[in-house]
Amino acid sequence: MVRLRGLSPWLLELLAYPLASVMESRISLNSVDTVSLDQARRQDLTYYFTGIACKNGHVSQRVTKSRSCVKCSAEKYKANKDSIDAKNNLWVKRNRKKSNEIKKRWGKANTVHVKKLAKDWFKANRTRVVAKQAEWRRDPNNRDIQRENVRRKRRNNPGLYLFLQNKRRASKLNATPVWADTDAIKRIYHDCPKGMTVDHIVPLQGKFVCGLNIPENLQYLSPSENSIKGNSFDVIFTSSDGLPVA
Ligand SMILES: [Zn+2]
Repeated sequence: MVRLRGLSPWLLELLAYPLASVMESRISLNSVDTVSLDQARRQDLTYYFTGIACKNGHVSQRVTKSRSCVKCSAEKYKANKDSIDAKNNLWVKRNRKKSNEIKKRWGKANTVHVKKLAKDWFKANRTRVVAKQAEWRRDPNNRDIQRENVRRKRRNNPGLYLFLQNKRRASKLNATPVWADTDAIKRIYHDCPKGMTVDHIVPLQGKFVCGLNIPENLQYLSPSENSIKGNSFDVIFTSSDGLPVA
């Protein structure tokens, strides 16, 4: 159950509204389970349920603190949405810290609901989010942050990175044809200028095409260029011969 303390009653009613839809399902399931006001106060519950209709005829849960009917609050909110939203936003603006604490507490008490909301939202906005992330990654201003993120990830997941490293090594072996000039490859690695990395032009583990570990497929890149490139490789299929063109 959610616990909210030290809030004005009207705000509590507002907060009760988003919960109303969640609560409705509980009401239909637990309509026989009554929780008295006293019981709710003693157990610090946000809602109580007597089974007795409110003055507007709702058999609904009530907010323990304000004793207001959840359905009435929802109706009141629907009827005055704009002015209530404006009032609420103003309060949030003036009480940012407190508001964040409330959100945090509510989120912790409703993890299942929050996860579902986030999942649904992502599903509905997937293309937009993915495009935005790609745009952010391409921005040179974000390179330092990206580099730091990679470092932190590596620090926090040493096992995962060891696995990736080994996988890469293995695929490198598979990607090295018998006819490859291994001495030339070794030379390229050996002659790599200070501060640069050896990059496979066509990635060894690309999504659509896998490159070979041959001298012709190697180039020097700065670490930041390399980390941004990752395993991505722009492939354009020409219509005439159907071969990928970099
Ligand atoms: Zn009511």
